[in-house]
Amino acid sequence: MAKRDYYEVLGVGRESGDQEIKAAYREMAKRYHPDRNPDDPAAEERFKEASEAYSVLSDSQKRSAYDRFGHAGVQGAAGGPQFNPDAFADFSDILGDFFGFGDLFGGGGRRSRSRGQRGDDVRYDLEISFEDAMFGMSAEIQVPRMERCDRCKGSGSEPGSGPSQCPTCHGHGQIVYQQSFLSIRRTCTTCNGSGQIIRNPCSECHGHGYRQVQRKLKVSIPAGVDDGNRLRLTGEGQPGTHGEPSGDLYVFLKVKEHAFFERQGNDLHCTIPINVAQAALGCEVDVPGIEGSQKLKIPEGTQNGAQFKLRHRGAPILNTNGRGDLYVHIDVKVPAKLTREQRKLLEQLRETLPVDNRPAEKGLFEKVKDYFM
Ligand SMILES: [Zn+2]
Ligand SMILES: [Zn+2]
Repeated sequence: MAKRDYYEVLGVGRESGDQEIKAAYREMAKRYHPDRNPDDPAAEERFKEASEAYSVLSDSQKRSAYDRFGHAGVQGAAGGPQFNPDAFADFSDILGDFFGFGDLFGGGGRRSRSRGQRGDDVRYDLEISFEDAMFGMSAEIQVPRMERCDRCKGSGSEPGSGPSQCPTCHGHGQIVYQQSFLSIRRTCTTCNGSGQIIRNPCSECHGHGYRQVQRKLKVSIPAGVDDGNRLRLTGEGQPGTHGEPSGDLYVFLKVKEHAFFERQGNDLHCTIPINVAQAALGCEVDVPGIEGSQKLKIPEGTQNGAQFKLRHRGAPILNTNGRGDLYVHIDVKVPAKLTREQRKLLEQLRETLPVDNRPAEKGLFEKVKDYFM
């Protein structure tokens, strides 16, 4: 089959400028690209044809040779047109934004991607006491992680034996698949892209170059951390490969519950029981705080469910000097068992107290309900 004229292939005139040729090729490439036309040999043929035409017409030297001598002017020794893969670097610029691959054409100019990989992040769960969360602490933890093997200095090969070139990819780390004149690069699976294989594995690490060690780390936990908070230790995760950085270590905090403090945000809540007489007459109670107890005056006539706020007695607010508040909830206990004398006194009291057993106003009921929920 006779080769078609390159200008005809791209559908441009002989006097067309570079921009016009580029635009025409771009259109053809979009339409006939193999990724858009899988298993369509006709489209692939058109794509190849257009790419070949463009590789000649976009190069002023080749174009003038073609203009003067036709196909014979650009024929290589092998009979087909000479393709300098570097001339195709330009294609990736044209196609890259459509197809997202610059590597379709062999020898493309942009191979900056590193072969290495950043190390994995590691999670470590740490349970601390309520008090430690309040005051902050320094904890020593042991984290298993991979570290470079001392024996082989991370190479994976027995000392003195060095790795050898991967026979599959000849050290390139990539394999170029030649599909007619298209070449596609894939990472070599024999060596996983490193270009080297280990013939004589290190006896210590069995060729991994890394071994698992228990690493001791000091973790400084700031005052005010809460259950579920996590701390990040940059670079303390698994090591990266081929010079890439290590991952991070995340310490997930579990804060144990306190016997009587409940934390809500930065506020603390606790419930203090008092008896009926204390509620009616008023009293003074000891309120436990995270830094020791403190006296709280309960005024006479305090109702069940009353709450008192002790400002700045709550949890430290992380990374500030501030503190939340401490809420004291009053639980008035009615005696369940009475001695004979107590009963007598209460009966006397009953005679003197006003009796009003009409249903309470709804507002009051709502209040009581809130308290019990
Ligand atoms: Zn080793
Ligand atoms: Zn290889």
